[in-house]
Order: sequence, then structure tokens, then C-alpha cells
Amino acid sequence: CGIFGVYGHPEAANLVYLGLYALQHRGQEGAGICSSDGAQFHLEKSIGLVADIFTEKRIKRLPGSMAIGHNRYSTAGGGGLKNVQPLVANYALGTIAIAHNGNLINAERLKDELETDGAIFQSTSDSEVILHLIARSKEDNPHYRIAEALRSVSGAYSLLFLRESELIAVRDPMGVRPLSIGQVDGAYVIASETCAFDLIGAEYLRDVEPGEMVIINHNGLQSVRILQSIRKAFCVFEFIYFARPDSYIFNHICVNTMRKEFGRQLAKESLVDADIVIPVPDSGVPAAIGFAEHGKLHFDFGLIRNHYIGRTFIEPKQSIRHFGVKIKLNPVRDLLKDKKVIVVDDSIVRGTTSKKIVKMIREVGGAKEVHMRICSPPTVGPCFYGIDTPTRQELIASSHITEEIRKYITADTLSYLSIEGLKSIIPNPENYCTACFDNNYPIQFPEDRLEQMEL
Ligand code: 5GP
Ligand code: SF4
Ligand code: MG
Repeated sequence: CGIFGVYGHPEAANLVYLGLYALQHRGQEGAGICSSDGAQFHLEKSIGLVADIFTEKRIKRLPGSMAIGHNRYSTAGGGGLKNVQPLVANYALGTIAIAHNGNLINAERLKDELETDGAIFQSTSDSEVILHLIARSKEDNPHYRIAEALRSVSGAYSLLFLRESELIAVRDPMGVRPLSIGQVDGAYVIASETCAFDLIGAEYLRDVEPGEMVIINHNGLQSVRILQSIRKAFCVFEFIYFARPDSYIFNHICVNTMRKEFGRQLAKESLVDADIVIPVPDSGVPAAIGFAEHGKLHFDFGLIRNHYIGRTFIEPKQSIRHFGVKIKLNPVRDLLKDKKVIVVDDSIVRGTTSKKIVKMIREVGGAKEVHMRICSPPTVGPCFYGIDTPTRQELIASSHITEEIRKYITADTLSYLSIEGLKSIIPNPENYCTACFDNNYPIQFPEDRLEQMEL
């Protein structure tokens, strides 16, 4: 998911709208904005894309100088309007809204306990558990209540809370998902990624630290360490696929630079003789450039992506045909015909997309050889911390060696970036989660989730 918050700006809702627009890649299922005018909360949310949801009229219904927003990408609890955030609740100390990026791994157990105790849930998302815990806390200070609630949840969370007259940001003790602080026109802004700051002309100050609570109100910005951070576990997949290349995450590291370096390293490890290097757009582009640079090979866009496919695309009834990946990608025959082609992509999940791409490059593009290069290690484990990966069984690399995958996708050769290669690129690799590539899960699972681990 993508989250964005503003404190102290007359155009708060408008800035959140722009911020969410820049963070659209982090979630396309639904979006919402909640503003506070100092006393009243205002909420607008819908299923769909930011630009379609927020008309001028709807933004006008969000007055106030502070607001938070959310782009939904569901990893827990499924879809539907009820799960679109921000979620807003009234409790003993007033009103509070929440926007969450990440995934809690003990939410189901906590929810069962809360329901047994009489709680009524409005959504099926894990984030609502946090609101219930805040509402039930006996602390008389809302900040203590939030801290207490977060001490009983486990997992990945970058959070924004809106209260009547303040904005609060918290990052889980391992800092799995990014969260950054910026400033524009004297107002504070908080975003999942810095690409959202660029759009509104905000300056990137620093990240919310793992385990830190940042409170922004009429006294300015105040920082409180509410959770002890024993180890960090920044998500390496943010660099590989999820974050936008123009963002700076995890203490000012440029995503594009990382991706290019992954590509260079991949070329060091598995260069083959070829006429051209092409990316699978968009996720493979920076890595393919790095790969071609290192290999001193010709780079070009041999696959063209249609950028206008939304979730609303309707395939004409079976009468025509099943389009598959052709809706999204089409080869440039002039570049590929009779060529030895290296194709660079970010990851293989199920292997179905890669298979179709190889076939297309060979059959429609007319390539003589197709060499697939993947700028991440084989994806062997599901993510439980906020990236929507399928079950272990569906991950082709969890049960097949590279040669078997090569045969399945019908490539002439297939190579992945080594885990050592990946770790040689990122600064302080011990501060990263790489669980989907090495099954080394940094956040302890409660008993009832262990079964799911075997999925
Ligand atoms: P597959 O191997 O499952 O057919 O698909 C791999 C492709 O899915 C890659 O090109 C990669 O860019 C993309 N991909 C990887 N992770 C995700 C994800 O979490 N969500 C979406 N929508 N695509 C992903
Ligand atoms: Fe990121 Fe993979 Fe760890 Fe999930 S398991 S947080 S995708 S590195
Ligand atoms: Mg892709």
C-alpha cells in the first residue's frame, strides 16, 4: 500500500491527493483521504484509481489543514470498500483515523480474542485490530494508547494516524516498509516514498526510524522511541520491484541506482553472447540498462508496454480470443528478428508471465535465441509482511531448480542474480529482510501461523 499525510497546510487534502497519485504503483484497488478541520473528520474513499476517485467536488468535501490518505493493495483481509482506508473510529478520547502499509502476522489471533471479548469489526483488514487495541487501552494519553496497542501487534507496519489536531507516524521496530518525512511551505508531509515529495515540491528530510513515533502538531515535530529496535529488516523487494525507481528509501538510497547495480552484478555473474539486451517493462528497465552497460551490449526497448490497462479492461467475449500477456506487451519485430536476445526482468513468481514472454519474443518477435536474466534470486518463499505473493506451492522456484524453470519457460538459458551478489550491492545487507529469497524470516511467527508457512 501507499500512505501519505500532511500537517499544517491549507490545501492538505489536495496535497494528499497528489501524493497518493504519485504512490499509485503501491496499490490500485482503492483509495481514501481523511481530513480534519480541527474538530470534525471528513472521509472520502472508493474502490478504483486515485485519479478516478477524487473529483474536484470530492476534494472540496475534505476541508482542514491536516489529512491522511491511503492506496490499497490487499495482502490481508481481501477487497471491498469496507477495507479501503483510512479507517476512522470514535473512542473514549475522541476520533482517530488510521492508514497502514504492511501486514500484521498476529492479527487473526488478536481479532479472535477481541471478538470473544465483544468487539465488533467493521472490516476484514488486519489494520482495524490496531484501532480496537487503541480503543480498549486504559491509558489516558492517546500516544500511550497507540504505543500500548503496537506493543501487542507483530509484523510490518508503516502507519499514519490522524487525530483532531495532530498527525502521528509510526514505523515498526524492524522498519520493513519505507516511510519518509518531508517539508513543504512550512508544512510537514509523510510519505511511503519520496517520489510523492517531488510531485508537490517537498524537501525530503529523513525517514521515520524503526520503532519511532513522530508526532506533528502545533508544537512542531516531536519524536518518541516507542518500540525497541533489536534488528532491522528493510524489505529488499522494495528495491527489486515495489518502489518507484525515482524514490529514495531506507535512508536516502536511490532505488534506480540499486536496480542498475543489480543488473550490472547479474551481467558479471551470467553474461552470454547476444545481439541485444531488452527489458520487460517497466520493472526490468533499470536492471537491463545496468546489464547492457556492464556487458557492453546494445540496449533497446524490444517489448512495448500498453500503459493504459486498468482493472476496467474488458476482454471481448471468448468469441475473439484470450489475450493473455499480449494486452500488456508486444514485441518490436524489427529489433528482435533473427537476433540473440537477452531479456531482463525483476523476478519470476509463478513463471507463467515469463513463459508467455519468451514465447512471444520467439514467435512474434522472430528471435533466434532467448536468454532470460532475472535481477533477483529465485523467489522461494511467500511474503508475510505486506507484499502480495502467492502461496509457497505456487512459487515455481520453491519446488524447481533453475534448469527445470528454464525448460518450463522455454528459454535457451536462464540465470538469476545470486543472493551473495544481491547482498554485495545493498549497503549493510544485515539490515534487510531477504526472506522470500532465503526463507530467513526476521519476524517470529505465532504458533497458528506456522502452518501457513508450510503452504
Ligand atoms: P510470474 O512469474 O508470476 O508469471 O510473474 C512475474 C512478473 O510479475 C514479473 O515480471 C514481476 O514484475 C511481476 N511481479 C513480481 N512481484 C509482483 C507483485 O507483487 N505484484 C504484481 N502485480 N506483479 C509482480
Ligand atoms: Fe520483502 Fe521478501 Fe521480506 Fe516480504 S519476504 S518483506 S517481499 S524481502
Ligand atoms: Mg514485470
